[in-house]
Amino acid sequence: MQTNLAAFIKDTPEGKEADAILRKCTHCGMCTATCPTYQLLSDELDGPRGRIYLIKQVLEGATPTAKTRLHLDRCLTCRACETTCPTGVRYGRLLDIGRHLVEERVPRGPIESAWRRALNAVIPNPVLFMPLLKLGQLARPLLPAALKSKVPAAPAPARPWPTTTRPRKMLVLEGCAQPSLSPATNAAAARVLDQLGISLERAAGAGCCGAVSFHLNEQKEALDYMRRNIDAWWPYVEHGVEAIVITASGCGVTVKEYGHLLHHDPDYAAKAQRVSELTKDISEVIIAESAKLKQLLSPLASRLSGQRIAFHSPCSLQHGLKLRGSVESLLTSLGYSLTDVPEAHLCCGSAGTYSILQPELSQRLRDNKIAALTSGTPSAILTANIGCQAHLQGATTLPVRHWIEALDDSLPPSPSPLS
Ligand code: SF4
Ligand code: SF4
Repeated sequence: MQTNLAAFIKDTPEGKEADAILRKCTHCGMCTATCPTYQLLSDELDGPRGRIYLIKQVLEGATPTAKTRLHLDRCLTCRACETTCPTGVRYGRLLDIGRHLVEERVPRGPIESAWRRALNAVIPNPVLFMPLLKLGQLARPLLPAALKSKVPAAPAPARPWPTTTRPRKMLVLEGCAQPSLSPATNAAAARVLDQLGISLERAAGAGCCGAVSFHLNEQKEALDYMRRNIDAWWPYVEHGVEAIVITASGCGVTVKEYGHLLHHDPDYAAKAQRVSELTKDISEVIIAESAKLKQLLSPLASRLSGQRIAFHSPCSLQHGLKLRGSVESLLTSLGYSLTDVPEAHLCCGSAGTYSILQPELSQRLRDNKIAALTSGTPSAILTANIGCQAHLQGATTLPVRHWIEALDDSLPPSPSPLS
């Protein structure tokens, strides 16, 4: 694609990055076929190619309008288009740059702005999020059905975190909303890793990965969250932790991009790069240890294969982290019986704050996803990202959990780790 960026942005780091991305696009439109919002709305401007044109026009000096912003707002940032694109267009990064520019030029109304500020203040902050969630859960039985589905039920309590000290050490991202919505997830990861001879440690002072603020276009605040995590993790990195483990794939995508997002910050660039290099989704860690797990699980093979499980692969896992099919292969190799899930590449509609800000599109995507996930009559749904987990749980009576919790439940208790 030929470009002619306007003087105001041409020579900036963002302008150069956007220009390089745009030049890779050949207008082929292959990405449009796998875009969830294009499938729902059949409007070129609600597909990746149309949004790329809109961003290009703004970068070339056109004045954006509320309609431009609406088409960009409707994007889920699912990145299915990146997986489909034959020339490697980094659409997600281009969208970040485009949204930031449009947000500056087309201010939102006072109510919408206040709502977005409230989401940005509450979700990344457990001190606010946890009590508000508990209040909602107390009132849940009294709420009308439509509202009830938006308040997650009280979660299963976490099983005990191991107290043993293993020779190998990894660090875990605790995150912001996940400890309130699903406290069992990180505890399950710690318990499984403990059986594999790895201690999972928690760093005081770390918190939200920055994704919530980043996707609400509060990019300065998002970078501050990133710097705070790096400061909290750095002593552990210097002491040689093997990995920074992430159990929410949505956060994993963001932490793996710290190196890129902070590369202009002279105080943090090198540390951010190191943190990104150390970051691993929990599936990457478990896959590397799967031979040991198979030993532990082989006596239970008939029990595992007797349960029918549907796996929902989050967009952040398959399109963001490019780990498409990896958890499914792992679970199958360990003896679980997975059902077929049609159109598994499509987003469930959760997408960070999208389910709150674009409720109509989000619910249509969720309905389609639940139909796909339940078409093989599973007894449970497993996934790999807290946002998808909570979103899907609001629309089904089947249990929806992180797959590491199911693995923890399956493992026999072991007093000593395998080596
Ligand atoms: S990120 Fe997802 S919703 Fe957005 S344009 Fe790409 S495929 Fe469509
Ligand atoms: S598939 Fe890639 S090259 Fe083709 S229109 Fe989409 S982004 Fe451009």
